[in-house]
Amino acid sequence: MRPEILFPLFAPATSLPGVGPRYAKLFEGLVGGPAVLDLCWHLPSGIIDRRYGPPLAEVIPGRIATLTVTVGEHRAAASRRQPYRVLCYDDSGSLDLVFFHAHADYLMRSLPPGQTRVVSGKVEVFHDRLQMTHPDHIAAPEEAASLKAVEPVYPLTAGLSLKVVSKAVHAALERLPEVPEWLDAAQRQREGWHPWAEALREAHTPGEERDLSPLSTCRRRLAYDELLANQLAIALVRDRQLRQKGRRLKGSGHLQDRVLASLPFALTGSQRQAVAEITADMAAEHRMLRLLQGDVGSGKTVVALLAMLAAVEAGSQAALMAPTEILARQHFATIQPLAEAAGVSLALLTGRDKGKARAALLESLADGSTDILVGTHALFQEDVAFRDLAMAVIDEQHRFGVHQRLTLTGKGQAVDVLVMTATPIPRTLMLTAYGDMDCSRLTERPPGRQPIETVTLSLERLPEVISGVERAIAKGAQVYWICPLVEESEKSDLAAAEERYGALTLRFGERVGLVHGRMKGPEKDAVMARFAAGETAILVATTVVEVGVDVPAATVMVIEHAERFGLAQLHQLRGRVGRGTGKSSCLLLWQGPLGDTARARLQILRETDDGFRIAEEDLRLRGAGELLGTRQSGLPDFRLADLAVHDDLLATARADAQLVLEKDPELAGSRGQALRVLLYLFERDAAVRFLRSG
Ligand code: ADP
Ligand code: MG
Repeated sequence: MRPEILFPLFAPATSLPGVGPRYAKLFEGLVGGPAVLDLCWHLPSGIIDRRYGPPLAEVIPGRIATLTVTVGEHRAAASRRQPYRVLCYDDSGSLDLVFFHAHADYLMRSLPPGQTRVVSGKVEVFHDRLQMTHPDHIAAPEEAASLKAVEPVYPLTAGLSLKVVSKAVHAALERLPEVPEWLDAAQRQREGWHPWAEALREAHTPGEERDLSPLSTCRRRLAYDELLANQLAIALVRDRQLRQKGRRLKGSGHLQDRVLASLPFALTGSQRQAVAEITADMAAEHRMLRLLQGDVGSGKTVVALLAMLAAVEAGSQAALMAPTEILARQHFATIQPLAEAAGVSLALLTGRDKGKARAALLESLADGSTDILVGTHALFQEDVAFRDLAMAVIDEQHRFGVHQRLTLTGKGQAVDVLVMTATPIPRTLMLTAYGDMDCSRLTERPPGRQPIETVTLSLERLPEVISGVERAIAKGAQVYWICPLVEESEKSDLAAAEERYGALTLRFGERVGLVHGRMKGPEKDAVMARFAAGETAILVATTVVEVGVDVPAATVMVIEHAERFGLAQLHQLRGRVGRGTGKSSCLLLWQGPLGDTARARLQILRETDDGFRIAEEDLRLRGAGELLGTRQSGLPDFRLADLAVHDDLLATARADAQLVLEKDPELAGSRGQALRVLLYLFERDAAVRFLRSG
């Protein structure tokens, strides 16, 4: 149960004055969560320094200034397009205040002629006259002290002005409770860190540019808190896992042999090695928690199947869980013929299965007549029970939380877990996601793959691209067409994809399909199935998720607005082609002007298709913070920590977490109790449940 002192922070933003449902929705989009706490985490990205206030004659145009002036004549607008002007002056010079669509009576009240006023805003020169358009602040001299000399600037979004955001964040900060200190006193002293609430308030009141740096004292403390929560949660889970006894799952190899014999190809060296590592781990007494890392197309599925067969050989059951319905079906379709060849019974369970068929499936799981179950998170449903689940494979782990992983492993006795990921992750980053997890890597690619020819083109050359696509499909090729990732909302993603779909349909008629995240499952499947069967030649898609499939005949990948995608994402997308033996190409369409980073990204993709090299370059170009922030990165989203700059803190947090658990494994002492609050603050509730009096 979440501690009561945190309740105000987890209250919805609508509990704040001035935040109604409409703003709350916009805030949620902006700050990434609905709670008061999410607003507190929304740190300023800049400052407005209003301390500059020389006499008018000395003002440098272009700067933000806070000026004390005497109000002179008001000049109403001569026409609708003309602004309303208020002429002001001091001993040294003059300044015009300029207002468009002005309300004269309001301006008369706030700027009465003959009075002194303090105005703050950006100063410009227009027709040789100094002017300020729509001052940010107008105050009487006696109120001028309340003008903040330095104002924080927050990242904004359409529909939310700086004023509204600042006000809401300010109101949120008023709710900060006094929490017990969870950090080690010596460390706090060494680093000069203030208590948590104070550090958070400081982070929101920068006095200088450099206070915005992630290296500032207050931001380092906040980052450390987050990393500590992360490392502590991982250590708790890991601890329990290691303490639980596993079981020896030792297969005879006969089912594996049958599958190997029926494969149309031989395993690569790294596939063989991975299978050997995994089966040895399963056969050992401890509980397995292992990562299988391999680039797109490196052949993880077959490795996972062989591992699951070892469990079946040992007389138990295995499950494979995929993050999306499409991927689950894809895995099922791939595995089905192989399972059949081995004489193993396989079933598929997704959220769509209902009624009698589902009941029959559950029965076959419970009585053990189904050996391997493939599915989505539907596998977590409460009534899904196995006779003896001994091994679970989780594909693309990052989409599932630790909690879900535990729920699944709770469905069997000492379940061995294999996590598959296609994202090559640098080691430090891996620690934040998995702790010290054993890892098998597929470093080789299946033989016979031809390199993908990658071309970058300006979007202006779209007509040529379309003609090229036309020629390719005339020769029987199939094409993925990925539409731009628009940041603001899913809706605009969709609009862009629909528009492209419309345009391509005009040209190619029914040979074009469209798939996007808003479609219902069966609808998506139908579109995908038509593409996989070659009935459609072009598949327009919005996101990465929808194309996480294997269509070997697809040999052309077009990515619109490639400059908006991350390097790793582009690499993943490109990996959807080049799966068969045909020559494949990838067209990255960009729209200028290209920044240096975008240019470098496209260049790297032209140069290499080595996923590990690309991951490293990605990290270098974007910094870990951004890499961690993306959904596809496979790593937790940190709100405050940025591993590109806080990696020293990660190492400390890791050591700290281990030490804490050695001394106080149940977090029962006074620091332990405070650390529980920390875990709840960062929503690691699942980890707390491991504690005896959680
Ligand atoms: P990923 O690692 O991206 O999940 P998959 O398991 O989907 O890769 O495999 C990609 C494709 O490569 C599949 O069509 C699979 O049948 C094929 N494949 C896997 N291993 C080999 C191999 N050793 N030789 C040739 N093709 C292979
Ligand atoms: Mg795969």
